[in-house]
Amino acid sequence: MMNEIKEPRKPLIYYYLIVFLAIMLFNALLMPIIAERQIKEVDYSTFMQMVEEGKVDKAEVSETENSILFSDHDEAVYRTGMIQDPDLIERLTGAGVSFTGEIIQQASPILSFLLTWVLPFVILGLIGRAVSKKVAQQAGGGKNALSFGESNARVYVPSEEGIRFSDVAGVDEAKESLAEIVDYLHNPERYREVGAKMPKGVLLVGPPGTGKTMLAKALAGEAKVPFFSISGSEFVQMFVGMGAHKVRDLFNQAKKKAPCIVFIDEIDAIGQSRSGRLSTNDEREQTLNQLLTEMDGFEDSTGVIILAATNRPESLDPALLRPGRFDRRVNVELPDLQGREAILKVHASKVNTDPNINYTQVARMASGASGADLANIINEGALCAVREGRKIVTQEDLEESIEVVIAGQIKKNAIMTEKEKRIVAYHEIGHALVAAEQTHTAPVQKITIVPRTSGALGYTMQVQEEDRYLLSKTELENHIATLTGGRAAEELIFGSITTGASNDIEKATEIARSMVTRYGMDENFGMVALEKQDSQYLGGGSTTTCSAETQKHIDKAVVNIIREQYDKAFNILSENRTKLEELADHLFEKETITGEEFMEILEAE
Ligand code: ADP
Repeated sequence: MMNEIKEPRKPLIYYYLIVFLAIMLFNALLMPIIAERQIKEVDYSTFMQMVEEGKVDKAEVSETENSILFSDHDEAVYRTGMIQDPDLIERLTGAGVSFTGEIIQQASPILSFLLTWVLPFVILGLIGRAVSKKVAQQAGGGKNALSFGESNARVYVPSEEGIRFSDVAGVDEAKESLAEIVDYLHNPERYREVGAKMPKGVLLVGPPGTGKTMLAKALAGEAKVPFFSISGSEFVQMFVGMGAHKVRDLFNQAKKKAPCIVFIDEIDAIGQSRSGRLSTNDEREQTLNQLLTEMDGFEDSTGVIILAATNRPESLDPALLRPGRFDRRVNVELPDLQGREAILKVHASKVNTDPNINYTQVARMASGASGADLANIINEGALCAVREGRKIVTQEDLEESIEVVIAGQIKKNAIMTEKEKRIVAYHEIGHALVAAEQTHTAPVQKITIVPRTSGALGYTMQVQEEDRYLLSKTELENHIATLTGGRAAEELIFGSITTGASNDIEKATEIARSMVTRYGMDENFGMVALEKQDSQYLGGGSTTTCSAETQKHIDKAVVNIIREQYDKAFNILSENRTKLEELADHLFEKETITGEEFMEILEAE
């Protein structure tokens, strides 16, 4: 782990000054009142009576204040007004009262010193600490919200057990790129000899959870240099100019600690392109300008290397990306099959696992999962083992946890009617049968009609034998046919349709639409881009780049593609109707069947 070291705070001289003034005020105004309260006022006759009864121990006659302070044997202090009494001294002497000219001390000098000077300091100090802690907590991350403009970069000093490149699996290209920087930090002369300069900035680009932050930490761990980590959003401040100040402060700190690595996570928070904004945001713009200036400002030899991560590279300002600033771009993509297997193994090594686990199989099932997803799958598997009271994690645990990640937990007491269950069984077998009959689609791994908490009443898990980078038009069409297979089976068998296909419809439409607008797979449009994806790594929407007239045609083309595939699926199912019924009955009985069982029944004569 990395050890976090906080920057020492600046001396809070003002804070102490305020405390000091408060204590002065306290002593000047409050203490006399408190002291006053402890003196009991009595009348002169009571005083006389007490003297006669021998109750008075000491007395202090104050002519100036025209009063007598006296105490009894229990140390209680009284005061009385003085009247002209020529026999007073005689009487006091007679009663054995010791009377002096000094004021009677109400408490020992040490105690009163402690009470008036030390205690207030302690109390105010404690309150001050508690308040500043609270403020810091609210500001998040142990920062002091009152220190406007200071960069809150946390400094990590890599310890021996810090994150290393070996902990980050499956992103070999990215690691290679960063390993060069480690080498530079260790042997700068080698590079200087040739005249080679290190990139000032490295931009890590990729979908969320692929290990960008981890790579940055591993780089610091390998290079054994200080590591400043700050999130882009921390630069966005309420007051104009504060963000820029923070940037300046961060770079000043970094230069003092060089060689070091500065890591700015989510840099798109400040690095967004300045053009094309609807509203101007002066603060953000100033911060970005300051960052640009700072990056230009330092020499190559200072040894400060800036790393930044983003999952929205398209939104970054071009000025930030030009050589001399972030001149190296490292793509950290979703891991492929081998990568997934490696990541699973890295995380599995931290838990007790069954040595017979087939990680390739698990990795195959988790297609499209990011590093963070895979870490989560291992953890869910471990939790599953604990739940069942086992000490080791098995293959089944991991498979179950993939399903949990995909479809949510098993719903314990969901009650489906017989009729509904039968419809779901036909629906799922419809998908699987259409998939199996089209040679190009991936084999079915598992079919289940156990309801899940995500709302899925059943699902068919398909597993790709290998990762696919290119998909042909036929493959996409087959995929759409498979998606429509569920609804087609319902219609074929029951003659009516249900709401169960909404998710399939969504997915099929998305594929068909992309085929027309982005992959140029429609004869009428050809290779024309009709839509632009908004964010490469975050999924989400797309923007049409065509006229309303053309959009009408697009919609029509999409409908045609899906209708065609639906008809194809319907035909496949009606040709194999007996198999469909046999398989659906089997699934209805058993609720979960594996891919092998499915194929056995399908291929049996
Ligand atoms: P990002 O910054 O890209 O969003 P992180 O680096 O924060 O992702 O990764 C989140 C978590 O996912 C890490 O703490 C780690 O457990 C896991 N993880 C992600 N990618 C990998 C990888 N390539 N190898 C090992 N673990 C990974």
